[in-house]
Amino acid sequence: MIKIYPQLINEESLKNWTYADCENYISAENDKLFAPSAKETDLIKEKGLTLDDTRYLLKYFGTYSNVLNQPNEELIKILTNHYKFKLDYLEYMNYVDDSTFDNALSSLFNVKVSAATPPAAYIDNYVIIPTFPYYAYPNDPVHKDAGTQNYYTYRYQSEKAVELYRAIYGSGTTPTFTNIWGAYSSYSNGAHEGIDMVGGAGSTIKYPVNGSGTVKKPRSAILVVQKTSASKSFFFLHMTNRTTSSTVNTGDSLGKEGNIGNGDGGAHLHFAMEDGVTTSTHSATNNHDLDSFNPYKYNVY
Ligand SMILES: [Zn+2]
Repeated sequence: MIKIYPQLINEESLKNWTYADCENYISAENDKLFAPSAKETDLIKEKGLTLDDTRYLLKYFGTYSNVLNQPNEELIKILTNHYKFKLDYLEYMNYVDDSTFDNALSSLFNVKVSAATPPAAYIDNYVIIPTFPYYAYPNDPVHKDAGTQNYYTYRYQSEKAVELYRAIYGSGTTPTFTNIWGAYSSYSNGAHEGIDMVGGAGSTIKYPVNGSGTVKKPRSAILVVQKTSASKSFFFLHMTNRTTSSTVNTGDSLGKEGNIGNGDGGAHLHFAMEDGVTTSTHSATNNHDLDSFNPYKYNVY
């Protein structure tokens, strides 16, 4: 944020800002930064687009003039998908209220939720989710109280998530997850495409999937392992010291937990998976149409 907004470098009051203050500030600054010119505003109106929709289309086409040069059918297709996702998400959120929250989360993510301390016998299978204010959003079922700065610790049982965590970090670290697959991310106005897990900055990240895979590095924050035999791609984000090997096997080191490319500054591993090995190697990070797998249901590791 400091790099983009240099006027904040010496802003003494910054340390008292809530996350909502930051969000409001950034969105007001972005409105100024990404405002279309007067001529573009006219052309946008002429095309029948709202400013919000046009801003969303910048994600795909980069500049207002590129957006304006697209055929209408192309723009309609993208916006239809965008709103379809939002409507599906709202539909799901509509049936989530306090009383059904646990059940809804349980059925959607195949996990069991409990706010209570789990019985000792099961403690190894519980995942601790500290509330994470960066993902605060009023309708986010996991972090629903973060907006009011009330901290809740939900523990949810998910054997597969714990298995995955142990395969990645080893058995000596308590499985700690800071965000789940499918949670609403106000930052990206879409769904979180993976699971965020924390083992401590610099922890070795091991390849948890059975069998060998091919390593790709489409961007500095992203390492993808493509497993041709399963036709799946596995995404590991934010690592430092990424492996130089072009293929990896189960248990091989992929790198160290870090915060590369991560706007919030906290080290964690974002793990996601997608169908196929020949499609784009960097979706699952920012397209936010929830085309990634639900990793709590997939059984490869
Ligand atoms: Zn993530």
